Amino acid sequence: MSATTEHTNCLRCGRTLTSTTSRTTGYGPTCRAKVRNAQRTADLTDYKPAQIDSARELIEDGAIIPLRPRIYRAVSSDGTETYLTARQGCTCPAGIKGRNCYHRAAVAILTAA
Ligand SMILES: [Zn+2]
Ligand SMILES: [Zn+2]
Repeated sequence: MSATTEHTNCLRCGRTLTSTTSRTTGYGPTCRAKVRNAQRTADLTDYKPAQIDSARELIEDGAIIPLRPRIYRAVSSDGTETYLTARQGCTCPAGIKGRNCYHRAAVAILTAA
């Protein structure tokens, strides 16, 4: 994915990130473990396996960024657009049509972490 940006602070707790891995994913080791764990415990029954895979990728690329409590900004897969995503809705083309999109799956994971 081309959207990868370097993060200087943890997307979950805001602490300064020091390692290269952390700066790429956007999470420190503790938060990354929590997010990984949430990928197994989050309720993702509304999403297809391919959407869950995309959601996981989005998170690991640090391409879904918290803006306000429960509101996230997701970067589109080609990196040219951003969408506002919450658990119940998303401004991407699928989300506007009321479909479940992988951005929302990613939010479901992150809010369970
Ligand atoms: Zn953290
Ligand atoms: Zn979406």
